[in-house]
Amino acid sequence: MTRTVETDDISFAYRGGELSALESFSLAVEPGEQVALLGPSGAGKTTFLTLLDGRLRGWTGRAAVLGKALDPARPPPRTARPDVGFIFQEFALVERSTVLRNVLNGRLGRMTSVAAILGRHAPRDLAIARQAMADCGIAELADRRVDTLSGGQRQRVAIARCLAQEPRLILADEPVSNLDPARASDVLNVITAAAARRGATTIFTSHQPDLAVRFASRMVGMSEGRIAFDQPVENALGDDIAALYHADAPHLRVVQ
Ligand code: ADP
Ligand code: MG
Repeated sequence: MTRTVETDDISFAYRGGELSALESFSLAVEPGEQVALLGPSGAGKTTFLTLLDGRLRGWTGRAAVLGKALDPARPPPRTARPDVGFIFQEFALVERSTVLRNVLNGRLGRMTSVAAILGRHAPRDLAIARQAMADCGIAELADRRVDTLSGGQRQRVAIARCLAQEPRLILADEPVSNLDPARASDVLNVITAAAARRGATTIFTSHQPDLAVRFASRMVGMSEGRIAFDQPVENALGDDIAALYHADAPHLRVVQ
């Protein structure tokens, strides 16, 4: 079976950056895995997700997503890759539009260009959008304007929009970092359960190892653009995680 993600010996430095954001980085992800990328700020997590999303230029190495090689000189247009969904850290929603409209935007890459320009959604698009909203627990918010919602509700809209796209790979960059612990746990549960139900692969970044342990099947620790550890969650060691954050930080320890 084709791997969902296959990257080999990736290196990348931002222009003007002193250090490499990614350094001989190699990671393969199989279909259906739920991977948590952990690491301190600046470890390269966002850079790696941006690469997988096809938005990074000028890296070296080899990368393929869902069997298609990425070209570091020519990132594909977003709409050419509806199979890859991205949940942004800042929600990137259309504020003055309704929840339903925002979620339907997830269908754009699946529509003909004429239908997309005219905003003509087929009944099937509407059904998929409604299912995505139901899965995210926001069905009753369909007609509300996004700018009237709470942070947790907005994040659910962003997730529903991503699900409506019917991605086979979901990339989520700090999807719960702006939420309080109870909401963070709910929202990660929504993402991973919806992904599992659809057979989609998920890669999410997090600052919270305790959440990674609960919602991922595999934990990959990153530090200074490299892999520090890569383990199924049941084998992940509190010491590895604490070392990753360079800290004697008892609150980061994982309870086995
Ligand atoms: P993380 O998501 O793990 O916090 P990033 O991928 O954002 O890490 O950053 C990796 C490294 O690249 C850091 O040293 C960061 O300062 C640098 N970096 C990130 N984005 C940019 C940018 N747009 N321009 C220059 N340097 C950047
Ligand atoms: Mg980041």
